[in-house]
Amino acid sequence: MKGLSNRTLRPLYRRKVIKTLLQYGPISRTDIAAKLNISKATVSSISEELLKKNLIAESSIAASTGGRKAILYDINRNGGYIISLEITPTYISGTLLDLHVNMISDTCSETNKEYSSSFNIILETINSLIKEMPKEQPIIGISINFRGTVSKDNVIKYFDYDSWRSRNLLEDLSKHYSCLINLNNEANARAYYNSVHLDNSDLTLITMGTGVGLGIVEDNQIYLGYHGYAGEIGHIIVEPDGIPCPCGNKGCLESYISTIEILKRLSTKKNKAITINDFKYLYSQNDIDVLEVVNDFYKYLAIATNNVINIFNPKYMILSSEIIDSIPNFIEIFKQKLNSKVSDYERLIIFSNNRSGAIGGAYLLLRDFFDIEFYIKNGNK
Ligand SMILES: [Zn+2]
Repeated sequence: MKGLSNRTLRPLYRRKVIKTLLQYGPISRTDIAAKLNISKATVSSISEELLKKNLIAESSIAASTGGRKAILYDINRNGGYIISLEITPTYISGTLLDLHVNMISDTCSETNKEYSSSFNIILETINSLIKEMPKEQPIIGISINFRGTVSKDNVIKYFDYDSWRSRNLLEDLSKHYSCLINLNNEANARAYYNSVHLDNSDLTLITMGTGVGLGIVEDNQIYLGYHGYAGEIGHIIVEPDGIPCPCGNKGCLESYISTIEILKRLSTKKNKAITINDFKYLYSQNDIDVLEVVNDFYKYLAIATNNVINIFNPKYMILSSEIIDSIPNFIEIFKQKLNSKVSDYERLIIFSNNRSGAIGGAYLLLRDFFDIEFYIKNGNK
């Protein structure tokens, strides 16, 4: 029987070489060949191809231990740039990143309720970041991380503002840019970021801000569901006949644990606008109204978290909210509310990084650009 030809195997080897460079770079060709158990000639030929494309670079010379010094290779940090956006009902942020996914520049604007006006803000955001790129370098791609529901074919199913619904944001952007573009739900992008930063582990993440989202990563893949809408945890019903929700139901989780709804509830109680900083201060003063609201927050978040753990049995259960960040002893109190004898998780993590959606989106973009199964960060096991 004839074995597979080198030509057939080359794309597979290219993927493996790229993943090895991402995970272990800077690394010599000899070490890449040894790790992958392929010939040094194959590694040399693939690295020549990647060098020509400017995607990898000679990074340094290995310390001499006698004999010839080995040249080390790494992903070329300046081989191209990624522009990653977060689009939420309140802000549109843009981040310029290099190929090592380091942040180079950052910009933020207010979202407009009208899709067409916001689309112009999106174009301005991208164009202003393009201007900051070194002229001779290409854009690898644009990542859009959207705090709303998007279908697998990139149509907006649900967003806070009506004029955005049924729009194909990716198609609209493709008329202006010819590079690779991806469109992700922001909670999914945040979950992917965390999975990459936790040695590519399985996890679930509940993020609470203007809305409530759930990101699910299993086997290095985001769980999307049939249409792409999986993870709409903000609209699971936690209180029969509860607070009416814009989605048409009553008693949705979002109405009880999103940061905006909590501050709104507190503002009504206090009869004045309450910001997250006011919340933090009032909590530190044991304000009775804040304690009452926090009590409900614990109650409904525990229902949601218990349900997620029972459905997915994640390795890591991650919670992200400015309300949580304002409660110093949150995790000790909250853990006591998660004592299911049925299911389990390895670790509960509180996480805050307001650019993790943009960075997670950049990881997903690089995954597709390099045509690898999943993104792997340098130093991951
Ligand atoms: Zn709802």
